Amino acid sequence: MLAKKEVVRKPIAASKTLKKIMANHFYELDEAAKTGSKKIAWCTSVGPAELLRGMGFLVYFPENHGAMLGASRMATELIPYANAIGYSPDICSYLTSDIGSYLARKTPLQKVYNIKSVPKPDVLVFNTNQCRDVQDWFSWYGREFNVPVIGIHTHRDIGEIKDYQIKDIAQQIKDLIPALEEVSGQKFDMDRFKEAVELSRQCSVLWRKCLETAAAIPSPWTFFDHTIHMGPAVVARGTKDAVDYYELLLAELNERVASGVAAVEGEKYRLYWEGMPIWGKLRALSELFASLRTCIVASTYCNSWIFDQLDPEEPFESMARAYTELFIVRDEAYKEQYIENCYKFFRFHGIIFHDAKTCPNNSNNRYGMPERLTKRLGIPTLTINGDLNDLRCYSEEQTKTNIEAFIEQLEEE
Ligand code: SF4
Repeated sequence: MLAKKEVVRKPIAASKTLKKIMANHFYELDEAAKTGSKKIAWCTSVGPAELLRGMGFLVYFPENHGAMLGASRMATELIPYANAIGYSPDICSYLTSDIGSYLARKTPLQKVYNIKSVPKPDVLVFNTNQCRDVQDWFSWYGREFNVPVIGIHTHRDIGEIKDYQIKDIAQQIKDLIPALEEVSGQKFDMDRFKEAVELSRQCSVLWRKCLETAAAIPSPWTFFDHTIHMGPAVVARGTKDAVDYYELLLAELNERVASGVAAVEGEKYRLYWEGMPIWGKLRALSELFASLRTCIVASTYCNSWIFDQLDPEEPFESMARAYTELFIVRDEAYKEQYIENCYKFFRFHGIIFHDAKTCPNNSNNRYGMPERLTKRLGIPTLTINGDLNDLRCYSEEQTKTNIEAFIEQLEEE
């Protein structure tokens, strides 16, 4: 019989600063959208944010809004609005819930920040490095607002990255400049761009260090904390605020490690999370794992905002490299080696694969990877069926039973 513990939560003090940064991000955008004081670019979460910041745009990330729709559990009721205009329930539920939110005129920004709607874009900029859905998503808004949609088309399923691929992506980034100059009304300034690249690099270095503190036993924080604290790495990379934030957070995490503070009291098992978070169930899952004395110490998802290849001396090429070397862009062999490296570093006992119904791009269980990794690493894996935002694809009871059985299996080993 599995021994369950009452959950003792360890709040992270830096969370107060985090809340301020996220609030300022949205207030600044809202103000600019109302007054026209600054141009606004929408950008995909692993799109060329540094170029946009370096050209003076405020940058808004619809995927972050998508995650808020999921976490606030508004997504499930809003998805049908997008389905009704022809966007399938089987495609990305960030896309469908976000477009649904726009059509229904309902956003979590209202409740959290008293902001009526997402900021109107002056330009939409995507990178298909993560999936094709982002281009379709932005194209819908491009038609709605009658503004330009421009982007980068990345090579996918790459093993070893070739020079011609980097040159191609670097050129595609450069090719965005004339269209962006036209929208911003400002000339491209290389020094300003380099500064944004350098700040983004610093943010990435610090974010990596923060995530790596979870290699400590016990771990000072969990995957569920990472999904919250990654906010500035997504929406504020390329700014000084993000750098300052991760310095603060890192100091707190290091202090926790030094004094042996465990995120999960009595940590007994350590797991890796592969795939998207289930945004509407973060708290429930966090409590369930904690009650089983299990800490999810690392994930592919939160590692995806580490771009420490960035180099202000070679801004275009290093951006091309950083946004192409990403896990999601790579082939199966690379991904398995990546997870093996994580296994050696974080020392986990098993892997949870989240098969997200509407995101095949971030569901790596579908072509035999769990079986191959079990063989290769000698650790068990569990696949959870669910979704990032559409909770109709997720069974709480079934998942709970499966997780408990999985931990029991670890107990017996
Ligand atoms: S990677 Fe998945 S979750 Fe992200 S935008 Fe693409 S389909 Fe949606």
